[in-house]
Amino acid sequence: MLAKNLPPLRVAVIGGSITGCTAAIELTRAGCEVVLFERSGEELKDRGAGIGVPSSGIEAYITRGLIAPDVPFFNADSFKRIWRTEAQPVSGYLAWAQPTNMALLNWGALYRNLRERVPAGVYRTDQQVVALRNVDDHAEVTLANGAVQTFDLVVCADGYASLGRRTLFPAVEATYAGYVLWRGSLPESALPAAPGPLESGISALGYPGGHGIFYFVPGVDGATAAGQRLVNWGMYLPAPDLAELMVDRAGRLHVGSLPPGAMPMATEARLKAEARARLPGYYADVVQASHDTYVYAIYDCEVPAYRVGRLCLAGDAGAFARPHSGAGAIKGMNDAIALRTALTGGEDLETALTAWSLSQTAIGNRLVQFGNQLGQALVRDIPDWSGMNVQQMAQWFNALVTINTEVFDRSQHAR
Ligand SMILES: Cc1cc2nc3c(=O)[nH]c(=O)nc-3n(C[C@H](O)[C@H](O)[C@H](O)COP(=O)(O)OP(=O)(O)OC[C@H]3O[C@@H](n4cnc5c(N)ncnc54)[C@H](O)[C@@H]3O)c2cc1C
Repeated sequence: MLAKNLPPLRVAVIGGSITGCTAAIELTRAGCEVVLFERSGEELKDRGAGIGVPSSGIEAYITRGLIAPDVPFFNADSFKRIWRTEAQPVSGYLAWAQPTNMALLNWGALYRNLRERVPAGVYRTDQQVVALRNVDDHAEVTLANGAVQTFDLVVCADGYASLGRRTLFPAVEATYAGYVLWRGSLPESALPAAPGPLESGISALGYPGGHGIFYFVPGVDGATAAGQRLVNWGMYLPAPDLAELMVDRAGRLHVGSLPPGAMPMATEARLKAEARARLPGYYADVVQASHDTYVYAIYDCEVPAYRVGRLCLAGDAGAFARPHSGAGAIKGMNDAIALRTALTGGEDLETALTAWSLSQTAIGNRLVQFGNQLGQALVRDIPDWSGMNVQQMAQWFNALVTINTEVFDRSQHAR
């Protein structure tokens, strides 16, 4: 429940994805009266994408009652850092099985678990927020239909292009990293060859100018049996001329991402040729067999604070990191959990929000720096791994990536 010295709070959450759903669940459980505004006219659909999150996060969210104990996922204990060589053109040279502890799951499974825990009547679809304003000790939300509503607190969980962030910090802009993540998936049943290379860990295929990641996630219906899994893959590729890559089949320019089904056949064919030129043959064949591939431009963005007045930022709406760290989803969920903890911690509202903003700003901006270090090591300045052994690989990585995974420490999820 809320701290004794806090009045009952009326809270608006803007955005109904991973962060917004978590905020709605946590703040309702804390005794707030919550309304969630999602601009999409229907429930968000499974984006078909796999995501990797630190395993400690999944365990903590199950314990917290945010996701079901039987949520389907696979554990990966290593990033297998592989480079194509003349001697090993099909499977590549394994330079380093870098230890990790990641859970690999469908984005849709995580979203559905959260969505079904948002209490009935809280989640409002087809409600685009067009303006936000601090007014004395309240915040005003203006909807696209012209309605204006007043709340004690507004949590902006409206993603990387956040209206909340633009409203609070108009001068803050996301920076394009100069490369994209090209993604696709393939049912295991359509694999051109036996699944052996994908059976353990996450295959991380290095090449000049980037790397590719390949791993199994459960099938879209949650199936985990061999034969029914889904191969999830992505390749980081330099894209100095971003606009050229973001034009869809109808000739329209997209900002940020080109969704599945939108990419012109000629663009997909060109990218598949790039994959063939860079990847060991086994993985290039997986890419070749995939259809309706899609692209995300890679951006990052630090923010000066997570709240001003009664307007708060959470998840990708706050600091926004490159996806290398696999921490975007848990960072958003942890922002929401930490907000509940702050509001129930016994302080008055002003003190609680100030402390929450300070801690989440530090964590968010640190994650951005972590993503940038990984981007430098694994994309911009990636060395040729084919001449490196395990010790040299560890030395190279640890020299460049100095922020360690304490950013995801279990204590953060449990706070
Ligand atoms: C290519 C790529 C790969 C990634 N891989 C991983 C991974 O492996 N592991 C991981 O943990 N994370 C990954 N992430 C990050 C992860 O997807 C996000 O960080 C996470 O989903 C948190 O998102 P969010 O809820 O904060 O924002 P979003 O998912 O962007 O949701 C924002 C929501 O707000 C709604 N909205 C926006 N504006 C308005 C408005 N004005 N009014 C009403 N509603 C609005 C949108 O419709 C949307 O539903 C990846 C991201 C990308 C781009």
